[in-house]
Amino acid sequence: MLSLIYLCIFLVGVVQCGEGGGNWGYEPHNGPDHWQGDCQNHLRQSPIDIRAPDVDYALLHRLYFMNFEHAGHIEFSNNGKTLVGGGFDKWGQKQPFIQSGGLNHRYKLHSFHLHWGGHDSVGSEHAIGGLHYPAELHMVHIREGLSLGEAVTRPDGIAVVGVFLAKTNDPIANRMNIISDVFGKVKHTGNKTEISSFKTNYLLPAVTEAFYRYEGSLTTPTCSEAVIWTLLAEPIAISSHQLHLLRDIHNYANKKTEINYRPLQALNGRRIQYRPSKLDRSMICSAEKLSMVIPALVMMAKFF
Ligand SMILES: [Zn+2]
Repeated sequence: MLSLIYLCIFLVGVVQCGEGGGNWGYEPHNGPDHWQGDCQNHLRQSPIDIRAPDVDYALLHRLYFMNFEHAGHIEFSNNGKTLVGGGFDKWGQKQPFIQSGGLNHRYKLHSFHLHWGGHDSVGSEHAIGGLHYPAELHMVHIREGLSLGEAVTRPDGIAVVGVFLAKTNDPIANRMNIISDVFGKVKHTGNKTEISSFKTNYLLPAVTEAFYRYEGSLTTPTCSEAVIWTLLAEPIAISSHQLHLLRDIHNYANKKTEINYRPLQALNGRRIQYRPSKLDRSMICSAEKLSMVIPALVMMAKFF
């Protein structure tokens, strides 16, 4: 029984899965103030606000997204808290993984899920200079060689890549159709569907070179402080119609999911690394002081 309980905790925390996923939620009676595990620790918790004074320029290698171009079959489901895409562990040698980019290990893609809000000025878990995007995608990767249960107990057991979703009605920029086309099939808790010919790079922006990096936690119970976070500076596109469909997804209480993001957490002295793109690097070379450049980059990201 105990091992079953632990498995449930691990699954709920890491994958946001399970049928309903425990009794935590985002409402006053079961919201973030009541979450258990490490959630009240406030040591290296996530999400955070990316503020210019807390950011350091970092000479990191670029992050490589391997097998993200491979087309495969995934399961897409509503777990009562969010929508989850999974099944990558069945892809064998073609399972997507990430490496380099300052990571000391290779991390295999386990699943992805979404966070969103009831209107456009809220929804993303992380913020840039205090501002939120309307949604945020998380790709959860497990360190190679570790089980899910082992990964949540290591300070670098999990690597999550966060991608902001920015509202635009440009149909060419928008590649979310691969999942938004089936939002209607997973409207209610427990609904599941399958997506064939899914390519993970549909969920990545065209440029992945620039990113923020910091050490944090899962943003759902058990809030394990086991996550190396990579937040891509460039967002991907989502249309107002797709946002409307997302906000119509029903949660475990059979209500529209208007909040499934955790509030911002204290940085507690942590520093955030910023790995610039090539363009940013040339700007930095010509700048008199780095301290002039980083705030400018954060401001650019804010108004992207
Ligand atoms: Zn998440």
